[in-house]
Parts: sequence; C-alpha cells; structure tokens
Amino acid sequence: MLITHDTECALSILVELLNTAPEVCGTELLPDTAALDAFVVRQEISEVDSLTDDDLRQVQELRSRLREVFGTDSTEEAAELVNALVAAAGTTPRLTNHDHHGWHIHYFAPHAALGDHLAAELGMALAFILTAGERERLRRCEAPDCARIFVDLSRNRSRRYCDSRTCGNRLHVAAYRARQRSADAVTPA
Ligand SMILES: [Zn+2]
Ligand SMILES: [Zn+2]
Repeated sequence: MLITHDTECALSILVELLNTAPEVCGTELLPDTAALDAFVVRQEISEVDSLTDDDLRQVQELRSRLREVFGTDSTEEAAELVNALVAAAGTTPRLTNHDHHGWHIHYFAPHAALGDHLAAELGMALAFILTAGERERLRRCEAPDCARIFVDLSRNRSRRYCDSRTCGNRLHVAAYRARQRSADAVTPA
C-alpha cells in the first residue's frame, strides 16, 4: 500500500477526532475550547492560534462530514465528499521542516482556522487512501455496542475491531465466558 508516514500520522489524528463524537462515546469529548485545545496539544497539531467558539463549532461540523466518508459504499461517493471538504478548506501545499520533523508537506493554508487546517490535512490523507484503492480500510468497529471508527492498516486488511486492547479483547472475554457457562451447564452436578 502506498501510504506515507505523514499520511499515517494524519489518519491517526482523523481517527482520534472522529472518536470524540457524542454518537461514539455517548458524550461529547470536545465540549468546549479548552477540550479542543487539549486535543490540539495531544495530537501535536502545529501552527494553531488561540481557539474560539467558532473554531469549536467548525471542528465539530467537520467531524460529522469526515465521518460520512467512513459510511460510503463506493469510492465515487467518498471522492465527492473528500473533494468538497478539501475545496472548501482552501488547500495550499507547501514544503516545511518545522520542529525537526524532516521535510513534509502542509496542505493547510498559512494561518488557516483550525477547521480548515484539519479539513485540508485530513481530507488529503483520505484522498491518498482513495487513490491507493484502499477505501475499504476505512472501517467501523464490528463490536455490536461500539460506534468507533478506525483505519485498518494491517497487511491483510483483517482488523474487525477498533482497538484490540478494548473491543477485541472485550469480545474475546465475552465469548470465553459464554463458553464457560455452556460448559458449566453440561457438567453433571
Ligand atoms: Zn508539520
Ligand atoms: Zn470498538
């Protein structure tokens, strides 16, 4: 798969962002600018000015639009969504080597609002997944009570759960307990 390290980093931010949504967690994990600011710091997003309520609303709206890409049934449908996102963000590719990161491309316009910044960077990461013919790697967790999304970067695209340490294990434990119960049921008293 032709996915660069930079794209992988952007995809990781994308997944973290989408999984802050209330429909995923039952509660809004980005309820105010302080939470958004903490998110920016945690994800090491560069060139972000101080954040306002407008930024918060814009990022929350972007999050819903990005999530739609994970629910598409065709690359055509996904491409249309990504094109709209990236066009609205005013993308301006430029080379940079800030903070000892080595040369990489920033797609967001200088001094862009955080919503546009993320739409450009995350939209382009999705564009690279689509041009690599890998739309099916954009997944929703298969655990019945989980709405988290993830990008399956495994070699054979075999990942089914958002995070093996939580959902995957939880299901294994549930299956194990169910087996134990049925084993107990047939054990003579
Ligand atoms: Zn950078
Ligand atoms: Zn899950």
